[in-house]
Amino acid sequence: ENPQPVYKRILLKLSGEALMGDDAFGINRSVLQSMVEEVRSVVELGVEVGIVVGGGNIFRGVALGATGMDRATGDYMGMLATVMNAMALGDCFRNNGVEARVQSALHIEQVAEPYIRGKALRHLRLGRVVIFAAGTGNPFMTTDTTAALRGAEIGAEVVLKATKVDGIYTADPKKDPTATMFDEITFDKALHSNLQVMDATAFALCRAQHLPIKVFNINKKGALRRICLGEKEGTLVHS
Ligand code: UDP
Repeated sequence: ENPQPVYKRILLKLSGEALMGDDAFGINRSVLQSMVEEVRSVVELGVEVGIVVGGGNIFRGVALGATGMDRATGDYMGMLATVMNAMALGDCFRNNGVEARVQSALHIEQVAEPYIRGKALRHLRLGRVVIFAAGTGNPFMTTDTTAALRGAEIGAEVVLKATKVDGIYTADPKKDPTATMFDEITFDKALHSNLQVMDATAFALCRAQHLPIKVFNINKKGALRRICLGEKEGTLVHS
């Protein structure tokens, strides 16, 4: 018989850096391909997938701030960077036989649909992957905050934050060999222990909405599927 997923709808947060692989900049083709395969494996389980993609592999707002230009200008440039990543992802999904749509919070209609919640929900119900581009459309925010926001809007049961590490540790495992990983932790404990899960805005939004966050290693093959099947993987932050 077919394995049953524990989630009906998820919001996956992919950082720009996750798309970079070991490159110094931009989008790594084989990394992109493997991300798409990971996502396809859960679409095949019947899980509805929304994706928020970052832009740090191309541009970060704060980088421009350092040159004396407006932070807000830099942030808009950062949002445009996420659009490029979203377009690349969208094409890669379609090339692999997975239906996908890109919706942008900034209006650039020649390249992406505008973000319309109702349309996004319809795409999801039809089994299409929806990639949310251009962050929230507002400066001074991050794509982690976008993931919390869109996750809450689409009624995702969990925000899955893809990282290069296996989960949340008691201390930085690179610096402290005695560090251990949490299987789960409450929002309150993560906050009081000063554990960096997401930025403060994103964290507060998830906490207020009782939207759990799972931090996991996207470079571990099959991890996303194991999570969707309820198997032990990553760290869950919950109410
Ligand atoms: N950004 C923004 N508003 C948003 C989301 C993103 O201004 O709602 C800008 C911000 O400058 C940020 C950049 O886009 O540095 C890229 O996003 P982020 O740094 O979150 O990407 P990631 O770290 O996930 O690659």
